[in-house]
Amino acid sequence: MEAIQGSTPEEVERACGVSITAARKMVAAVHQRFVDDLTGHMPKNTRRVEADAIRARYRVGVLRVVAREASAIDPFVKYVLECEDGARIEAVRIPLEKPNRFVVCVSSQVGCAIGCTFCATGRLGLTRNLEPWEIVEQVRIVRRDLPEGGRVHGVVFQGMGEPLANVERVIRAITVLHDPCGQSIEQRNITVCTVGVPSGIRRLMASGIRVRLGLSISSARREVRRSLVPVEKSNPLSEVLDAAVEFVKQNGDAPMFAVTPLAGVNTHDADAEALAEIVRDFRARTGVSPRLSLVPYNSIGAGDPFERASDEEYDGFHKRLAAIGVPVVRRYSGGSDVSAACGQLVARVAG
Ligand code: SF4
Repeated sequence: MEAIQGSTPEEVERACGVSITAARKMVAAVHQRFVDDLTGHMPKNTRRVEADAIRARYRVGVLRVVAREASAIDPFVKYVLECEDGARIEAVRIPLEKPNRFVVCVSSQVGCAIGCTFCATGRLGLTRNLEPWEIVEQVRIVRRDLPEGGRVHGVVFQGMGEPLANVERVIRAITVLHDPCGQSIEQRNITVCTVGVPSGIRRLMASGIRVRLGLSISSARREVRRSLVPVEKSNPLSEVLDAAVEFVKQNGDAPMFAVTPLAGVNTHDADAEALAEIVRDFRARTGVSPRLSLVPYNSIGAGDPFERASDEEYDGFHKRLAAIGVPVVRRYSGGSDVSAACGQLVARVAG
């Protein structure tokens, strides 16, 4: 039986041969009223024969919350969720500046094959791709756990995994996240962050969905980037940027360029200048200025070869970028009292 969280009402209608109204009611009951058992649910004014047809094909898939770590500093919450096959993933509730508004950071894979040297998930290796319903369910779980009056404003694919290595399922998940009977989230408030998979960026573009693109740059200097992001060897940043230019020309939204400043590694003047060059080039080619986001580093634990850049180093890098005309957004860095590095909490809960 299929988990219904991965399907739109139109898909349920087609698969079960029921009316779109019955399909919408059943899908909305799961996403908006948090119904967990279809067998015990009979939407109002629905013919029993239609409800039975849906129940014969679909069930509500389960991700079990095995850990919930709430920050004592702000409403940041990190969840470890167990899939039906026992695999564990992370989802995070990130507060926005506007009170009671949140973004959900979701995982797209169990582990990751890319192996970035500064990433706890990269150390786990790839177990498998997540199914569309498993991605959507992370948002449903966080929404259900919101404080009174809280709202999920957006979703960011920046948890465990490289979303564009699982692009077909990610596209399906976004379709359900956006659907009015699903999680009803504006596509423009969904950000897909990639370390750089040009074919995935083009596939996302061809799908016609209008999400924002985030690129994990790490360093615009090739040799430094290679040491941090092994995929640079097969997918050089220049090719990733070519695909991103095409993407932004089509959808017009400013992409996010992310850099995690690592002490003594990627915060030199030469790094700032190389970043300025790619930002200027991107602006010249698209007419859109990327937003550069500096993401504070959280240690990945024992044997970590990196350290977070000191406040002084961080500020110096920030000022240097601003001085050469690169607009920098300081990223939310709350929740530092709970394990904030992606993949770290799963490893800790497991071990
Ligand atoms: S940073 Fe992203 S792409 Fe790199 S290893 Fe971690 S999860 Fe994978």
